[in-house]
Amino acid sequence: MPAYLCSACGLQFPPADAPPARCPVCDEARQYVPPGGQSWTSLEALQPKHRNAFQLLEPDLYGIGTVPEFAIGQRALLIRRPEGNILWDCVALLDQATIDLIRGLGGIGAIAISHPHYYTTMVEWSRAFGGVPIHLHEADRDFAVRPDPAIRFWSGDRLDLGAGATMIRTGGHFAGSSVLHWAAGAGGQGALLTGDTIQVVADRRWVGFMYSYPNLIPLPPAAVAAIRDAVEPVAFDRLYGAFWHSIVAGDAKEAVRRSAARYIAAVAGDL
Ligand SMILES: [Zn+2]
Ligand SMILES: [Zn+2]
Repeated sequence: MPAYLCSACGLQFPPADAPPARCPVCDEARQYVPPGGQSWTSLEALQPKHRNAFQLLEPDLYGIGTVPEFAIGQRALLIRRPEGNILWDCVALLDQATIDLIRGLGGIGAIAISHPHYYTTMVEWSRAFGGVPIHLHEADRDFAVRPDPAIRFWSGDRLDLGAGATMIRTGGHFAGSSVLHWAAGAGGQGALLTGDTIQVVADRRWVGFMYSYPNLIPLPPAAVAAIRDAVEPVAFDRLYGAFWHSIVAGDAKEAVRRSAARYIAAVAGDL
């Protein structure tokens, strides 16, 4: 039985004889069912047509993204550290080359995911590296459609992953939307890995905040202020969003502050 996955977002379902009736990630206001309708594929069907590209973004931080692009087109991040590597977010394609290359980098000790758009084939990734824990915020539990003993739902506003890696729940894009603070990143000045929770925009000195990016649905000002305030206590100079180009290379904390201020002024008609 194939474990069907959604062609539009990469979300994988438990093995079944027939594809699911709908994808809960796509069939709601933050995402969309493509004009041609919902379609399904499988990891086995993807593997011959795609591969994963790796890029060293800074010492001990690798981007991993699929080419040609598949579904939403995000890239994941692998933090390499002696205490155990962390995979931040996920991509649907997993193949033997990816497993071999990551093993060469020390494997994966834990998987942490910002929000349901990047759940994809997280269970396959966990199993490929020995059933490592997958940390998801419990507020988004309904989107985790493939149950697995490796999934650990966390609650509250912070989860300590050890050795200076901390998940911080900001909310906003999703109720459980989280970022990962990596204290050792950016040469020890700190890096913030943000998924779609804080999105790097075209002018890479700035970031944006949306309930839905493809459908252009904004967040209320209070939610944007809450995101800004949630990351205020941690030090970071660099910020990595969910895509290859999504990097605020320096002074990133100030970029979050001024971007939140610009957003709040804009929705008040005060640009
Ligand atoms: Zn989907
Ligand atoms: Zn998203």
